[in-house]
Parts: sequence; structure tokens; C-alpha cells
Amino acid sequence: MSVNVFPIRAFDDNYIWCLANQSHCVVVDPGDEVPVLAYIEQNQLVLSAILITHHHWDHTDGIDALINAFPDIPVFGPNNPKIKQVTTSLSEGDKLSLPNIDCDFSVLEVPGHTLDHIAYYGEVGLFCGDTLFSAGCGRLFEGSPLQMHSSIKKLGALPKDTLVYCTHEYTLANIAFAEAVEPNNQALIDYKQWAIEQRNRDRPTLPSTIGRELSLNPFLRCSNKELILNVKQQMGTASKSESDIFASLRSWKDNF
Ligand SMILES: [Zn+2]
Repeated sequence: MSVNVFPIRAFDDNYIWCLANQSHCVVVDPGDEVPVLAYIEQNQLVLSAILITHHHWDHTDGIDALINAFPDIPVFGPNNPKIKQVTTSLSEGDKLSLPNIDCDFSVLEVPGHTLDHIAYYGEVGLFCGDTLFSAGCGRLFEGSPLQMHSSIKKLGALPKDTLVYCTHEYTLANIAFAEAVEPNNQALIDYKQWAIEQRNRDRPTLPSTIGRELSLNPFLRCSNKELILNVKQQMGTASKSESDIFASLRSWKDNF
């Protein structure tokens, strides 16, 4: 049975991704149980597992109620005692097969946004939580710019046709910043038009692809000449090293 991936909207701009076949489903980062339970009931599905990328409340607060409704399901997540409900803690290189759903993942450690952050990569796509966004990347709450840069590069090295399922609809705001950084990037200019149309129709801009992000996401383009020039001009960065440019770019975005 083939697997489909659907967005369940939560809060202002979160997506709780739901992987489903005809009978079962798995959700990623359920920060709120209410829309998940409604979706499950509407589609007459049985929840068979939960995947967690990191400890933030808007990714974890729905776990208890979902376990209550579907007792004994496995909760996969990072090795962090703050997420008490995790039954199988995962680290770099671990493999997992989802119960009742024909879907396998390998685990990537991607510290930066938080130190415990992991991502799930498989044939169906990449579930990268708050690490990589379309045209942007997560804020550094716990990790260093160096850690985030290496995490982002790790994701950027995945096959270009990989579908990228991020957990927030931040695309238009990210594009506004990316435009300031690389005003002459044609891929970005074209993408902006498409993204505006999607949002006007109340459609998600996600999933993206690794190939698309490599062409327009400034955080994956820290060796681009126009970008380096503009970062240096804006932030007074002296160094040309990719990770220093990344750090300056991240702090420019923090104050944009
Ligand atoms: Zn977060």
C-alpha cells in the first residue's frame, strides 16, 4: 500500500505532517492533538506511531492526548529526557521502519535550532522539523552557528529530488529576506510569484525539494559571490569562510 503525506494545520503556521495509507497513519511533531484527532476521525485512520524532531512545545504538546487515544503506540524521538513520552530514542545513523505503514527512515542529527534536533530521511522525503525551512533556516536557540551550518550542509547534500517537509509556513517571510541577500537570483524571483499564488489560494508552499532549496535558500548558498558581497556589506564581515558568512547571515536574519 502506498503512503501519502498530508499537512494538518496547527496554531498559526505549523504543519503536523501525517503519513497515511488506507488504514493507518503516523504523525510528525504533533504540537496539538485537536486537529490531529479530527483528521484521524474524518479519514477513519488508526494512529500507529509518532515521530518527534525536537523538544519544543509546539512539536510535542499533543503527544499525551494522542497516546491516551491510541495506547501503546511507539513514540520515536531524540535522546532527550525532556521528552518523557519517547519510547525509542534515536541518534545519527539509526534506521526505523514505521509500524503498519510501508515506510523506512534513517536518522540524521542536526543540532543548531536545538541541541537535540534530529531529522528523518527516507524514500518518502525529509522531515526536518525547524532546521531547514523553505528559503530559510531555524533560529539558533541552543546551538552555535557552526553547528547549524554543518547541519544545513548535511541536509543540502541529500539527493536533489528529496521532498522537504518543514514544520512551519514561513516561506513568504523567508523569501523577503532572501531577496535582500540575493536580489538578482532568478530562481528566487520566480519562486516568489509561485509562493504568493499558493498562499493566496490558502495552499501550503511545502513540501519543497533539496534541489529547489539549493537554488534559492541563502543558508545553503554561503559560497555564492553576490551573497557574500551583500553579507559583507551589510554585516561588515571580514572573513570569507563559508561558516563565518553563514553566522553573519543568520544574525542579519535575526534582526531583519
Ligand atoms: Zn522549534
